Amino acid sequence: MVKQTIQIFARVKPTVRKQQQGIYSIDEDEKLTPNLEIILPRDLADGFVNNKRESYKFKFQKIFDQGASQETIFENIAKPVAESVLAGYNGTIFAYGQTGSGKTFTITGGAERYSDRGIIPRTLSYIFEQLQKDSSTIHTTHISYLEIYNECGYDLLDPRHEASSLEDLPKVTILEDPDQNIHLKNLSLHQAATEEEALNLLFLGDTNRMIAETPMNQASTRSHCIFTIHLSSKEPGSATVRHAKLHLVDLAGSERVAKTGVGGQLLTEAKYINLSLHYLEQVIIALSEKHRAHIPYRNSMMTSVLRDSLGGNCMTTMIATLSLEKRNIDESISTCRFAQRVALIKNEAVLNEEIDPRLMIIRLQKEIQELKDELAIFTGEQRTEALSDAELLQLEKLITSFLDDQDPESRLEVGTDMRKIHHCFHHLKKLLNDKKIHGKSTVSCEIKDQDCQEPLKEEEYKKLRDILQQRDNEISILSKAIRNLPSTRMREEMSLGRQEAFEIFKRDHADSVTIEDNKQILKQRFSEAKALGESINETRSKIVTHWRLPSTGVSENIAMPSMPDLLEEKLRSQLEEEKRRYKTMFTHLKALKVEIEHLQLLMDKAKMKLQKEFEAWWTEEATSLQVLAAAPFTAPERVGASTHRPMSSQPCNVNARKILPSPSPIPHSQEHNSTSASLESSVPERPASSVPLTGDSQTDSDILAFIKARQSILQKKCKCTSSRATGHPTPLTNPWGQEGKGQSKK
Ligand code: ADP
Ligand code: MG
Repeated sequence: MVKQTIQIFARVKPTVRKQQQGIYSIDEDEKLTPNLEIILPRDLADGFVNNKRESYKFKFQKIFDQGASQETIFENIAKPVAESVLAGYNGTIFAYGQTGSGKTFTITGGAERYSDRGIIPRTLSYIFEQLQKDSSTIHTTHISYLEIYNECGYDLLDPRHEASSLEDLPKVTILEDPDQNIHLKNLSLHQAATEEEALNLLFLGDTNRMIAETPMNQASTRSHCIFTIHLSSKEPGSATVRHAKLHLVDLAGSERVAKTGVGGQLLTEAKYINLSLHYLEQVIIALSEKHRAHIPYRNSMMTSVLRDSLGGNCMTTMIATLSLEKRNIDESISTCRFAQRVALIKNEAVLNEEIDPRLMIIRLQKEIQELKDELAIFTGEQRTEALSDAELLQLEKLITSFLDDQDPESRLEVGTDMRKIHHCFHHLKKLLNDKKIHGKSTVSCEIKDQDCQEPLKEEEYKKLRDILQQRDNEISILSKAIRNLPSTRMREEMSLGRQEAFEIFKRDHADSVTIEDNKQILKQRFSEAKALGESINETRSKIVTHWRLPSTGVSENIAMPSMPDLLEEKLRSQLEEEKRRYKTMFTHLKALKVEIEHLQLLMDKAKMKLQKEFEAWWTEEATSLQVLAAAPFTAPERVGASTHRPMSSQPCNVNARKILPSPSPIPHSQEHNSTSASLESSVPERPASSVPLTGDSQTDSDILAFIKARQSILQKKCKCTSSRATGHPTPLTNPWGQEGKGQSKK
């Protein structure tokens, strides 16, 4: 049993503005626990200007400042947890912090670069690498991905996700057995035999989560996501199975209701998140108080699911993510306070071992047989009746698996029954004779030259050829991956008008810059992979030639025994060298493949997002057109106000997710009339009621004309008023304004 308090770490997100620097300091004395000091700016302390410098100090196991890389985070925080999971203990890593502080970035990773991949992909990579190294144990890995939104559980890996909306899928519910163990009904477990398979599941879940998200239901900030890696392992022949679970948790934003301050639907959601994080807090308070008999785990779904992680059988780690800017001081302090409480909780992790009854029966049967055999020796009674057909078949199976087993230490266990021992010898002799008859070429060699290694060579050659075949397959998979680069597939389904609008929309959209960048990286990686593949093929043919040479040498050797050993020795060492080169190159190619696949998945996700945002934008434009067509003499700014939130009136809030790419504000200038006139002239003369929002291609081209007209007007305007417009927080995804373009390229 390992007793340990929950480990707490802090990670500070990079700030855009330099001025924020005086707000905190990190004191990292080698001997002491690191300290994070948050300094309250004077104008915030007590709400009036005073000279008192207020500061708060918080202790953490380690504090990662703005420059900390994803690799550092993985090495320091996740790797030790992954190691204990591999050893058979449960582990949990959860990120806690306000929206925008970097929880998703830390747990899953950034959406752009391969180097930005977060704890989940790195942990998967590490775990599979370790499992591959340990061939003495049999492992199985399963993945589940749960989202908890408004106290309801959703299976992000449910295959029906594509066809149905989130609400229509069966909810994941909690069941408790008499031993108070939690079981999740309707949460699917997917076996993942490789890193790639597990990564695909992660991206599938993330994409499903994105598809379900609408501007009104920003699940990503309001829901908790629990990605779980279930590991089980067993020694061959043993009936004991070890199970360990690793939960990687991206919690909902921890901001308070008062700050959210919105009505209707959003308020319900805000209340819920707070309710669920509030229950988490209550559980943590209860746990940190000594002698508390009742811990209110059952109050919320999240605390029920994470019950083992909180004060139970688990090694748990918390990452407090902090966005240390002046306006976030309150939230940052509250995140740190929460972490201090969490650090008081003691967990007791035990090895989760269990006896598999099926395996136990097999083991006991074997034991009984062994005891019977021993008894027979002891009593001196040997059995004389003939072995049954079933027994003979069983023996032959044993011999086959014994011969196939590459382990030099493997044994053919038939007990002490002399009938069985005789049969084994008999059968082996038969096999050997059969082989001699069928493999004449090797026989002559074996007879003539006792030291001849031809049979071994044949075997090795075959193995090498299998490996080469496998490598060739890998290379062709790589080529296939590249051929599937973002295509025009999705555009083919659109009308011409929409396609053109999509091009306009895409042009300055931040995500298409990412897609383009990644496409370039992918191409580069692919040419690297291709060059490497060619190089590998070259080495491969060298190896094959080398293999052929000594083999012909041997047959010549028989005729001309004077073949110099030296030459063969040289060829051998060259071959070894080529084999080493081959191995290095192949390892490199494999790493490239993982990177290519990751980039591919990132791009698919970005493409999906782009398409989704385009649809939203298109509908919005269609609505604008409809409004304008219904009231053709309305001033254009009314159209803008009714359908597009004017950006200038939005508070500058980095936490607000940029869902819809809205156009720049239409500046109030004397040019109103001309704008109005050109817009109206571009509006088709059609009663508004007959303008469907989507589908009809005639309407689509009307919308396109409308978009284009507005675009050219706004471009002109942006040139005239660029100095005035710079103060506005233009969205990254602004497809209209020049400033938007400049920003998105950053
Ligand atoms: P949260 O999940 O807490 O709401 P995100 O992880 O989505 O926050 O982060 C908000 C934004 O900040 C994202 O665009 C993300 O890429 C960026 N970000 C967060 N942490 C970092 C970091 N350590 N380095 C670079 N960018 C970061
Ligand atoms: Mg997030």
